[in-house]
Amino acid sequence: MKTKKDATIVLHSDTENKTNFGAVTTPIFQSSAYLYPFNEEALKYPRYGNLPNQMEVVEKISRLENAEDGVLFSTGMAAISTVFLTVAKPGDHLIVQDQIYGGTTSFIEGLVKDLKIEVTYHDFCSKPDFSGCVKANTKALYIESPSNPLLKIVDIPKIAKLAKEEGIISIIDNTFATPINQKPITLGVNIVLHSATKYLNGHSDLMAGFVAGSTEMMKKVRKNARDLGCTTNDLSAFFLARGLKTLSVRMERHNSNAQKLTEYLEGHKKVLKIYYPGLKSNPQHGLASTFMKGFGGMFSFEIDMDSNELNEKLAKLKYFKRAVSLGGVESLICLPCETSHSYLPKSERERLGIKDNLIRVSVGIEDFEDLIQDWEEVLS
Ligand SMILES: *Cc1c(COP(=O)(O)O)cnc(C)c1O
Repeated sequence: MKTKKDATIVLHSDTENKTNFGAVTTPIFQSSAYLYPFNEEALKYPRYGNLPNQMEVVEKISRLENAEDGVLFSTGMAAISTVFLTVAKPGDHLIVQDQIYGGTTSFIEGLVKDLKIEVTYHDFCSKPDFSGCVKANTKALYIESPSNPLLKIVDIPKIAKLAKEEGIISIIDNTFATPINQKPITLGVNIVLHSATKYLNGHSDLMAGFVAGSTEMMKKVRKNARDLGCTTNDLSAFFLARGLKTLSVRMERHNSNAQKLTEYLEGHKKVLKIYYPGLKSNPQHGLASTFMKGFGGMFSFEIDMDSNELNEKLAKLKYFKRAVSLGGVESLICLPCETSHSYLPKSERERLGIKDNLIRVSVGIEDFEDLIQDWEEVLS
């Protein structure tokens, strides 16, 4: 099962051979009702996630993540919330990384706490040893690496090993890295999840989520996904399968474009600080290199401009569109103070290292010379 390499996995699946009526790509199965009994197969229904377009994606992403099984969701947040509700019951305790995706924090501060699930936030980046936070009712830990927007890296193998010793489930949001750059299950993590809205689809045109892990764990996650109604539809699954086919070539380009662009920006006098784990000057470069195959297309930097000048200059960029979201083929920028972290007061943002002049970049797959020239004109 694991003999195929990533670039091949994204293009070929057993599901296709079984279900495609000879078609080279899986046609869209746009039907909500299916005959039964049918070929001794289980009852088919889109919410069950057992139709060809859905199953093809499940097979491919599970293989990319070296996981026994996986479950496809309608959004990243559907995947995240279902996993939390699967691993913890009222009265249980979770340890969560202190800087994570804003939507996840909002869910924890809302429904998770309403359900009387206890949460301790921990800085896994500076202190991988979390044993001081473990209680008798601790069920799981939750990390995100690289993190948003400062691209902090946590020592995944070390944390996974410690979680195993403590007898708790380890969960990671692998959205920024993708399985092309980092395979947490191979590093010992139990559950890997994604906003497939981002790199896995890669074309900024649909929403989906994914969870991968052991057969036993995915059985529970799948049941809850069905009960909560979080499954994605066949049409989105079809487009996700199409996006996925180019994942490994896209990531190669995202990685190299981000590397070249950060190396250029690092030397620029208008750039005060830059956060990218691929840079040799990054204090976590050594750690990241031990388990990441590439460093991804996301980085952020502080620019020496006041907000008026910044707004004026950013509007002049030709290829970096100012938009939320990330991981698509076209380059995007945003200011975390206006987007992911706008809900925090300025003083709290600064404490987290997120200044008003911090720009987050999602580098696309355009020609890197054009991308560099775009910034050159704006920074001069
Ligand atoms: C976007 C994102 C999510 C949420 O995914 P949706 O598809 O928007 O629901 C979760 N984690 C990270 C790191 C993300 O970037």
